[in-house]
Amino acid sequence: MNWSELYWHRITPLHLLLWPASLIYIIFQTIRRYLYRRAALTAVKITIPVIVLDSITANNTEKLPALIWVINLLKSSGLRPAIIGRGYPDNYHQPMAVTNASNAKLAGDEPLLLANMLHQTCPIWIGYNRIEVAKALLQAHPECNVLICNDGLQDLRLHRDTEIIVVNTSHVNFGNGLIMPAGPLRDRLARLKDADAVVTAGGRQQAPDVGKRVRIFQLDLQEQKYVNLMRPVLTISASELNDQRIHVMASEANAQYFVDSLRFLKAALTVQTFASGHKFTQKDFQPTNIQMILMPWEDAVKCMGINDSRIWYPWQESLIEPGLREVILQKLREKFMDPKLLDILVCPLCKGPLIYRKDNQELICKPDRLAYPIRDGIPVMLEEEARSIPPEEDIK
Ligand SMILES: [Zn+2]
Repeated sequence: MNWSELYWHRITPLHLLLWPASLIYIIFQTIRRYLYRRAALTAVKITIPVIVLDSITANNTEKLPALIWVINLLKSSGLRPAIIGRGYPDNYHQPMAVTNASNAKLAGDEPLLLANMLHQTCPIWIGYNRIEVAKALLQAHPECNVLICNDGLQDLRLHRDTEIIVVNTSHVNFGNGLIMPAGPLRDRLARLKDADAVVTAGGRQQAPDVGKRVRIFQLDLQEQKYVNLMRPVLTISASELNDQRIHVMASEANAQYFVDSLRFLKAALTVQTFASGHKFTQKDFQPTNIQMILMPWEDAVKCMGINDSRIWYPWQESLIEPGLREVILQKLREKFMDPKLLDILVCPLCKGPLIYRKDNQELICKPDRLAYPIRDGIPVMLEEEARSIPPEEDIK
């Protein structure tokens, strides 16, 4: 257990002192939600659909694998997703894009990991104000047609079309069961009843009470893999590390848990720790006879600027019950029924406007002479799926 888990699993005099703050926080949130529901406060609507995917507790390790599952689902359906969010709790900066070249301090660990794993197939923007972030992203990437906000469960200023909440049921009754700042819960568990879907991880026995309307989908973590930092499409399994000589590099904050997690490997490990907050440079990665360097992902993502193909980090992909796919796509279908939304979609190639042909269920780019199909209510904005329009066919 690290310090935050210890803190959230106990009730000490400090927790009792913080408890009134939790109470005020939850009363404030409940009133706000009531006002938004009664339309006394209006949420800002972004032109394209917004999916909020967040966890009910802080420190939920399954949220990121769930997010990647959802992104892959959207992409395989022909959509062009983008990720927005604050990125990390104390981010007070203007909207910025997170890429492999981003400054680690400004970008935050999780957005950097996403930038590495999704490898420029899905823009990621972060900043203090999620609405500004969404607007800035869409200006830079008009081809994106669905936004995923991977935090902001409580940020009701941003209108959401779908809300998915990730819950880890194995968090022994959600730590000490208290709401932030005294406990790990972001809201009362009754909040789950307002979601469109709940994703649970960590055991089927203790399903949370989500009411009759909301469906629960189980997330299962897959076998641990190791991802190459320079080429994230390259992965290896733990058994492939047998009998290898591996150099482990980690900052002090992550070293203990990381080395513990590698105990099962049948490999010869050497361990090198760095002060927390250490700025990794090329110098830390001198050429030696070591073939493989293993780092916790939180440290590895800070080394994206270092061109060293020996750096790997562990990752567990997730598999979510397929019913969630239908829940998400059905919500999006309802949104894309609106011709106004189809009107603002642009061609992913030339970023120019498209002509909507209702009869053929196609979106046409005149300059590229391409017809993008609308399949089962979802616009498939992929060049390889588009029909190329023969010269004899008139485009009106
Ligand atoms: Zn075009």
